[in-house]
Amino acid sequence: MTDQGTPRLTCPLCQGTDFQQETGRLDSTWGFTSHKMTLLICVNCRYILHFYDRNSIFDFD
Ligand SMILES: [Zn+2]
Repeated sequence: MTDQGTPRLTCPLCQGTDFQQETGRLDSTWGFTSHKMTLLICVNCRYILHFYDRNSIFDFD
């Protein structure tokens, strides 16, 4: 069991395992909640995987 801090993902399109990570925030319409958003972009075929609120709203950092 390795602990590199990065989950091993496989691209559903090309089975590639190299991803470019982009992080951002989505602010809600009401402005009091912001959702963390992570995009993982396959460097091979540019397929984009979306992750929202990976750490849940109960994690503050
Ligand atoms: Zn791919």
